[in-house]
Amino acid sequence: MTKKIIVANWKMNPPAVARAIYLSKEIDKGSSKIKNTEVIIAPPSCFLSDISRVLKRSKLGAQNAYSGKTGAYTGEISPLMLRSLGVKTVIVGHSERRYGFFENDDMVRRKMKAVLSVGLKAILCVGERERNEENFQTAVRKQIRENLKGIPKRFSKNIIIAYEPVWAIGTGKTVKPSDLYEMGIYIRRSVLDMLGHNAARTIPILYGGSVNAKNAANFIGVDGVDGFLVGGTSLRPKEFIAIVKIAGSI
Ligand code: PEP
Repeated sequence: MTKKIIVANWKMNPPAVARAIYLSKEIDKGSSKIKNTEVIIAPPSCFLSDISRVLKRSKLGAQNAYSGKTGAYTGEISPLMLRSLGVKTVIVGHSERRYGFFENDDMVRRKMKAVLSVGLKAILCVGERERNEENFQTAVRKQIRENLKGIPKRFSKNIIIAYEPVWAIGTGKTVKPSDLYEMGIYIRRSVLDMLGHNAARTIPILYGGSVNAKNAANFIGVDGVDGFLVGGTSLRPKEFIAIVKIAGSI
């Protein structure tokens, strides 16, 4: 049985390191005995070092990385640096980066390449912007094609795709399970074009968008969904752990 992956994306929270350490200890301890799950905590970069020292079972993740290794890029952090802090997985192309910080598909592609080439895992976030967007499947397909262009097949085992409809992030709105099922098939079909049959079959697909302990079971039961990317609820350890339990029970 493959493990379900549950990612805590704290975004730009909490405001101080002491709280970040507290949250990570609570999540780590509370989820340590839940079978068939892999928990990834992605705090703000400035807390990575402190958190890496307290995690026992959960993996350390980062919310973003620059595409260079070192150099004159004021304010940026490279995958190499993140790796040296114990980071195992990097979120790439989150919609808050794409639309709040103007990351285009080419930047996302270069970030994917940079993260994967130093041996880290990459969670590629894709999703349509509007709920009733016409051709929303085509929009997601375009992101996958552009963002995976030129990525060697040998990196496939380190790629995770998070389907995050932008209209569902932080809004309390969620995707219908039947739409999620259909999108999962569509994503695997798009991965097939870029990375081949094996990757299409095995790449984990996560759902993200207003996941909480009440609705998580609706999505994890959907065939082809391998876990969650959780924003707001990941700052509430008890509820986040409840989501991990639900994921582990399927
Ligand atoms: C996210 O940050 O990727 C996310 C899905 O946020 P939320 O769970 O708050 O909707």
